[in-house]
Amino acid sequence: MHIDLNPKLDFRDVLIRPKRSVLSSRFEANISRSFRFRHSSQAWTGFPLIASNMDTVGTIEMAEAFRPFGALVALHKFYDPERLAQYLDRHENPNVFLTVGTGAADWERLAAVKAQTRVPMLNIDVANGYTENFVRAVGKLRDENPDAIIMAGTVVTAEMTEALVIAGADIVRVGIGSGSVCTTRDLTGVGYPQLSAVIECADAAHGLKGHVCSDGGCTVPGDIAKAYGGGADFVMLGGMLAGHAECGGELQYVEEDGRQVPKSMTFYGMSSETAMNKYHGGVADYRAAEGKTVAVPYRGEVRATVETIAGGLRSAMTYMGAENLKEVPKRTTFILVNAQRNTVFD
Ligand code: 5GP
Repeated sequence: MHIDLNPKLDFRDVLIRPKRSVLSSRFEANISRSFRFRHSSQAWTGFPLIASNMDTVGTIEMAEAFRPFGALVALHKFYDPERLAQYLDRHENPNVFLTVGTGAADWERLAAVKAQTRVPMLNIDVANGYTENFVRAVGKLRDENPDAIIMAGTVVTAEMTEALVIAGADIVRVGIGSGSVCTTRDLTGVGYPQLSAVIECADAAHGLKGHVCSDGGCTVPGDIAKAYGGGADFVMLGGMLAGHAECGGELQYVEEDGRQVPKSMTFYGMSSETAMNKYHGGVADYRAAEGKTVAVPYRGEVRATVETIAGGLRSAMTYMGAENLKEVPKRTTFILVNAQRNTVFD
């Protein structure tokens, strides 16, 4: 048994200290960033925000809505190959990752899409990125897709980040147990505070010319600024994007003035009973659900939410004196706090 006595931080444990800067307005803060990757020779430029490959938020409708912002969507893996190929064909620079797990059916689906069109970005997604089998799968995916931008995860520690980068990942997804509809920590006791996971994994990845995506745990736009401040190159969101018109959740309506108006929408973890019933014919005997199902208020089109996120980030950059996203971690000083904000009107 071993105890790590170093403090580990979540987004809620810190604030970003403001700094004197030459930026005169938030319009000078540029949230578009250009990347070169460790393995893929493709360059990518855009707003490095990614909708999670949960079937509720990782939708083609979300990808269409994200396009004007230059942001990305990890499409969920339950689309048929024709539909995926159609989206990829329609756009010269498709802003989507195609998602696979380690199972044969996913790889066959990917092969079926590749038979129809080029697949530039791939996301290999498992709940636990620590198995030898997963590392081998990342290596195989790289061998079979030498020039794809490959994202792989999830993990929360430096040594496993390094292993995935070396095995073939361009971007390592960081986060275990931090998700809004995740119950892994309750069920298993396993996890890692998200900000520290990002700081430690980013340091490991960057030394190897790899990148990291902070996945899970953002609850407000300020958390996204903190994730970039901790060294995240990309930030993935689930819960903050739930409940929008572009989502795949089921809508609940209420009657107002004789009309049916959308009131709330279901949102659930991909390891929840809801998801397992939908795609795997129920929860297998040997496992328990590690996700929950919630109803979130219906929020209309996602555009306004992305604008708020982008606006918050630009403002954060103005406070810290960062003209572009790459400068953000260099300009970030986190301060430990015991309260985030004034709660008098909560
Ligand atoms: P959020 O932005 O909602 O806090 O976190 C989204 C992330 O939660 C997803 O990208 C994924 O990594 C994780 N996640 C989604 N569904 C589940 C689940 O059922 N169980 C667990 N443990 N994590 C989940």
